[in-house]
Amino acid sequence: MLMTEKHSPYTRRSFMSILTASAYGIRTSLTRSAETSTPKKAQIAITFDLEMSRQYPKRNVLEWDFQKGNLNPETKAYSLKAAETAKESGGLIHFFCVGRVLEQKDVSWLKKISEMGHPIGNHTYDHVNVWATKPQQTQFRFQRSPWLLGGKTAEQVIRQNIRLTTEAMKQRLGIEPDGFRTPGGSNNALNKREDLQKMLLAEGFQWVSSGYPQHKYSHPKEEPTQEIYQSILHAQQTAQPYVYPTGLIEIPMSPISDVGAFRSSYWKLKYFLKSVELCVQQAIEQGGVFDFLCHPSIMYVEDPKFETIKLICDLVNQAGNRAEIVGLSDIAKRVSKKQN
Ligand SMILES: [Zn+2]
Repeated sequence: MLMTEKHSPYTRRSFMSILTASAYGIRTSLTRSAETSTPKKAQIAITFDLEMSRQYPKRNVLEWDFQKGNLNPETKAYSLKAAETAKESGGLIHFFCVGRVLEQKDVSWLKKISEMGHPIGNHTYDHVNVWATKPQQTQFRFQRSPWLLGGKTAEQVIRQNIRLTTEAMKQRLGIEPDGFRTPGGSNNALNKREDLQKMLLAEGFQWVSSGYPQHKYSHPKEEPTQEIYQSILHAQQTAQPYVYPTGLIEIPMSPISDVGAFRSSYWKLKYFLKSVELCVQQAIEQGGVFDFLCHPSIMYVEDPKFETIKLICDLVNQAGNRAEIVGLSDIAKRVSKKQN
């Protein structure tokens, strides 16, 4: 049979993005969209974790490890501007808030973000490691000031940290948290951690974003090779949402994060934009999910002109009805529908 455009499993747009990828010398996998005549709509999320990051705004600044929620003015201004920029492009940003942010004198910027319709989730009060088994391992703050633990177990510290954030969001912002993201990500997500899955369900969450897939990293300060981009694309394809046996939904973070790209690998912004573009295009081809993860405390230094979120919004707008920008709760809804 002659492959006219009408009968071809590839639309004109997928040819366009094959061209984009091959211009970079990258092979994208098109198997899934080739098998189904109407590929699923890709769901693209832009997420911002509201916390301070070590090594920013300058290298060797480490004190933020103890004060994750003490946001500086630049981080707050960037978050608000990003929320406005995304909105102007028809997009949305899903924020995850560390509870201590809500101890700050002024939270009007965050209220504005919420009033614009951007979802805000729970990211624990002190940025605690939920996988920790000893109380002092949960956070640097508790290593320096162990009396704050008050004899609690790791499990009690983690539960209280989640609960306090939910309460602070209710009292200070007047909203319930929209989902939960673990501080840090794990390749194992919450697999085989039924205790944590059940804790989150009991705290009122239907989904968690805790997985971060393994992929190769470039040597610091070196331009990433095709092999690195390929590895990131492969990881993005495998990091798709699923349901745990307890019923909790997992929405993994998509690689590469700003932490891996800028803090660990010293990437230039153009390398990061290339990686994001390839992954978004692949998600669109496959009708998959792309859960972009970054931190305004890093991005105001590395991407002051909001190029990354503009790029993501543009790619989704160009894809027409083949992609949409959503909050993570919309992704969770589609996963649970598929289950039932
Ligand atoms: Zn975080």
